[in-house]
Amino acid sequence: MDFDTRLAEAWVRAAAAAVDKEQERLTELDSAIGDGDHGSNMQRGFTAVMAALDGLDPAGPGAVLTRTGTTLISKVGGAAGPLYGKAFRALGAALPGPADPAGFGDALAAGLQAVRDLGKAEPGDKTIVDAYTPALAAFRAAVAAGADLPRAAAAAADAAERGARDTVPLQARKGRASYLGPRSVGHQDPGATSTALLFRALADVTRP
Ligand code: ADP
Ligand code: MG
Ligand code: MG
Repeated sequence: MDFDTRLAEAWVRAAAAAVDKEQERLTELDSAIGDGDHGSNMQRGFTAVMAALDGLDPAGPGAVLTRTGTTLISKVGGAAGPLYGKAFRALGAALPGPADPAGFGDALAAGLQAVRDLGKAEPGDKTIVDAYTPALAAFRAAVAAGADLPRAAAAAADAAERGARDTVPLQARKGRASYLGPRSVGHQDPGATSTALLFRALADVTRP
């Protein structure tokens, strides 16, 4: 199974639905260590993305993801908007046409690089990077072991969820939560949590 235009559209739609469903939880997490808007930021962004994809006649999977990223950047004011926006734009640029699992792994890597270039977070800083990094590693390890796209995506989603849970004991060193210093310990990072939602959505739409 290649990652094609149909899957790109299905992924973004599933991500929007997941954000919608989990909006309150994301907001609760962000209320504990941030300003309580991560759920509404993501919701506003993906609602705009759904509207932006309506009537788009994409030339390939990348066109869907690039439009997604551009929309997130323009509609979401918080830290996560530009970070996810750049990630989706990098994914889009890496996917002019359908990609096999290895090629899709390279695109995911470009997305993580975009997050790191913009946000300068290292693994362990209690951010999106802490879910994305293990998800990418699990995806690539699965592909190297011969997994197809659905299996690799499922491994990535499991790893992202573990990565998000593993942010609980960390002290935040980037973003608003870092202002809390040691008081950020003991809470799951909202952005790592939404990253896990995005990878779970990918696994769900690739599952045959
Ligand atoms: P804001 O903090 O501006 O209100 P959001 O609440 O939408 O924005 O997003 C907060 C999330 O953004 C955090 O939980 C964290 O995961 C992520 N984040 C913040 N700064 C960075 C960064 N420099 N690199 C990666 N992720 C970051
Ligand atoms: Mg916030
Ligand atoms: Mg905010």
